[in-house]
Amino acid sequence: MTDDEIIYLDNNATTQLDPAVIEEMLPFLVKHYGNPSSGYSFAGKALKALDLARERLAALLGCEPSEIVFTSCGTESNNAVISSALQYDPRGKHVVASAVEHSAVLRPCQDLAKRGCDVTFVGVDRDGNVDLGELEEAIRPETVMVSIMWANNETGVLFPVEKIAEICREKSVLFHTDAVQAIGKIPVRLRDTAINFLSLSAHKFHGPKGVGAVYVNRRTRFRPLILGGGQENGRRGGTENVASIVGLGKAAERASQYSSEGKTHVRSMRDRFEKAILETVNGAAVNGAGAARIPNTSSFSFEGIESSAALLLLDRHRICCSAGSACRTGSEEASHVLRAMDPSGDGARRGLRFSFSRFNTDAQVDRALEVVPKVIEKLRQVAAPASGSAVSSVATAP
Ligand SMILES: *Cc1c(COP(=O)(O)O)cnc(C)c1O
Repeated sequence: MTDDEIIYLDNNATTQLDPAVIEEMLPFLVKHYGNPSSGYSFAGKALKALDLARERLAALLGCEPSEIVFTSCGTESNNAVISSALQYDPRGKHVVASAVEHSAVLRPCQDLAKRGCDVTFVGVDRDGNVDLGELEEAIRPETVMVSIMWANNETGVLFPVEKIAEICREKSVLFHTDAVQAIGKIPVRLRDTAINFLSLSAHKFHGPKGVGAVYVNRRTRFRPLILGGGQENGRRGGTENVASIVGLGKAAERASQYSSEGKTHVRSMRDRFEKAILETVNGAAVNGAGAARIPNTSSFSFEGIESSAALLLLDRHRICCSAGSACRTGSEEASHVLRAMDPSGDGARRGLRFSFSRFNTDAQVDRALEVVPKVIEKLRQVAAPASGSAVSSVATAP
């Protein structure tokens, strides 16, 4: 690899488009531009392409094609589910979510709270796990919906959503999972689960940005967030983003292939990186180390550093990673996820997240393993210079 090559270890923020996805999308940007709702055969190509994408995604999710509604992103999917669940249920008074949800669930829930709906945010332990007993106790007679993410975007910690969905079904409460970080990373089979709604987003698994989907179980009622034409079987108005939906379908097919071929390259890169960092850097800890995690994420807290300074230095070495979630970079706020895991500690300001994908290489992992320990060392020298030594500026890369 060349020195100026970017080492992209921020695949939970977004991912590179798979070249096979671009190839599949292009004809629908150039040639087959018909509106899938038009009746003539020229537009039939687009309509057929939507059907194929729906089938491919259904195969990845282990559900029926009719249970999929395409949306503009993961955020829209989350908003649509939360809005639908509350409009349909006359109880409409209480929602339960975890304290470590993505802002695309947290913010709509906070908005509900402003409008008079009670919201309980269930906390997590030091490893990032929710206590199922506590979750069950949080459900009340007037609870409409429980929303718990499948995998946390900052730590990669997995939640037992199938079990949680069972608990909800017993209590006749709707269950939604924000699975944006799980889809394409772990095997999923929605058939026979009690999950009512699931949200996903294409750009987190090598598809294009600006397209996502909601799974709505066929026995669950759904009221659209976006009203308009009868697209998506009347469940999401607006002319379909055909090329992007085609890309989402292809990305789903590629993810199915990767897992059915039993490939484990992502997990082995992540594990090797994590082990080597723990061995070479003192005062490093893996957030969520004791929990089940998706195979691509390493979230560390490093003693004696500030995440924001580390990101600056790593950027000079052309290493892309993040402190907590990408959506917060630039805001000075510490990670709400790491804070929820350790409310009394300061780990939330010292976090760095590295997230891998099948497009990373072993050479890139090697390079990151050279740079990261040096950067952490440098930052610690700056923070606590040995007496007599000149204080070197953080602005100078080691
Ligand atoms: C990225 C992400 C989202 C938002 O998806 P967009 O398609 O970018 O709107 C929601 N939830 C989680 C857990 C995410 O990681």
